[in-house]
Amino acid sequence: MQTEFILYDVADNIATITLNRPEAANAQNMPLLDDLDEAWCRAADDPDVKVIVLQANGKHFSSGHDLKAGDPSQPAKFTLAGIIATESKRYLEYSLRWRNVPKPSIAAVQGVCIAGGLLLCWPCDLIVAAENAKFSDPVVAMGIGGVEYHGHTWELGPRLAKEILFTGRAITADEAKKVGMVSRVVPVDDLHAEARKLAAEIATKHPFALRQAKRAVNQTLDVQGFYAAIQSVFDVHQTGHGHALSEGGYPILINLEDMKKEVAKT
Ligand code: ZN
Repeated sequence: MQTEFILYDVADNIATITLNRPEAANAQNMPLLDDLDEAWCRAADDPDVKVIVLQANGKHFSSGHDLKAGDPSQPAKFTLAGIIATESKRYLEYSLRWRNVPKPSIAAVQGVCIAGGLLLCWPCDLIVAAENAKFSDPVVAMGIGGVEYHGHTWELGPRLAKEILFTGRAITADEAKKVGMVSRVVPVDDLHAEARKLAAEIATKHPFALRQAKRAVNQTLDVQGFYAAIQSVFDVHQTGHGHALSEGGYPILINLEDMKKEVAKT
């Protein structure tokens, strides 16, 4: 499978899904996300696939949602109902589906991983980060309280979650490892090889036991409230869009040029 923005390959029981929009720092437009979901589903359904690696071509893992792209299935005029329809499918349900694919998954992250970028790596079971990886969610600057899929508190703990949301600052790979969000930090040139090595090691294990191990951890998080919290914070997020719409008729509070400057700071 190869689409305009996604490469998909299976070898040695490992499915490798590659974001392939490097000229735009792998900004996520709707076709990229739809193709990415198709690749995940393909890997989930293929009995030859035991482990899934999600990686990205270019300097950066993902600069987040491509806010210039819009959604061709929605009318040009923004409505809260339209925003919720688009975002619940692509920014909530996709991430939850990828999280629950009953096979181990590994994200390999280099460069920036901004806002919507987190929605691609957080659902993976393990994250291998390059030394230059930086993770941020600067959307408070746009009048929104955090991206759609609220992994922040679960991944970082409440204080660091609040700090990065309040300040918009990026956390480094080492800092992310310290709090357990990242599994390993490796030199950028070794990133894909190291992710693959880890995948190959896991692929030697019994697939059903791996499935059950993953379910044990995810189910524990769900019993602690992960699923319910993700759903309810998605609605909190939508009040941000509703507020911005009521203030300025646009889903976020600042214009795209200001936003680019904000992102460049991270
Ligand atoms: Zn949103």
